[in-house]
Amino acid sequence: MNISNTPAKDVVNFMKKSPIAIIAIGSIEYHGAQAPLGTDYIIPDYIVSKLSHRDDILTLPPIPYGNCQSIKDFPGTINIGSTNLINILNSIIDSLLNSGLKKFIFVNGHGGNISALDQVGLDTFEKGGLVATIDWWNLAKLLNPDYDGGHGDIQETSTVMAIDRDSVNLEYCEPLVINELSNEITNKYITLHNYKNGNVKIMRSFKSVVPNGWIGPYDPKNSTVDLGDRILVDVIDYIEEFIESFKKVEQI
Ligand SMILES: [Zn+2]
Repeated sequence: MNISNTPAKDVVNFMKKSPIAIIAIGSIEYHGAQAPLGTDYIIPDYIVSKLSHRDDILTLPPIPYGNCQSIKDFPGTINIGSTNLINILNSIIDSLLNSGLKKFIFVNGHGGNISALDQVGLDTFEKGGLVATIDWWNLAKLLNPDYDGGHGDIQETSTVMAIDRDSVNLEYCEPLVINELSNEITNKYITLHNYKNGNVKIMRSFKSVVPNGWIGPYDPKNSTVDLGDRILVDVIDYIEEFIESFKKVEQI
């Protein structure tokens, strides 16, 4: 059931059955010239919308803004920071706990939100609730190695294309450019660097690492609606199964 567009009396009665509340969380940020700034919330919001038919789920409107401190140098990116995201989500959770709900699922579309979502999950646990967070892009690559990808590469671009074909223009694709720190310390993925046999994390702004705004193993110029469709189907199927098991969890 959708909390926003259903008669309130039906929502109030539905909440007495302690449904799981599910909320999409993303960001408005640059993903390369070809992809929409809303990529990170459009995808989770679509996934959540596909679950609203269920009689054990209360779907909420998405949180389209996130923590984009490292990417904020790119025009169009909107950064609300981790503290604001934590405060918004904790306020939403407090309201839902007040309405008798106990279990929550975050469908997250943005890596920069992860530490904030961990914090809210722990805060919620301390209040007697339970949060399950699903980072859809990490889930996708575990479900099928063909779905592997990085920030703004073939994985995200194909998936957002499958939802809204006109939101992507593959003619705008730019090549992958990585500004390496040195010949000895080489970039593995965004902040993670290879050095000899190990990895070292070095924080820099995203733009100073990849001036074209995307990074990943697969060029977004090869994105297809077909790949995005398959990713969405498999991720949504997985979440549907997870909900069945999550609702059986009794101990909080
Ligand atoms: Zn993204």
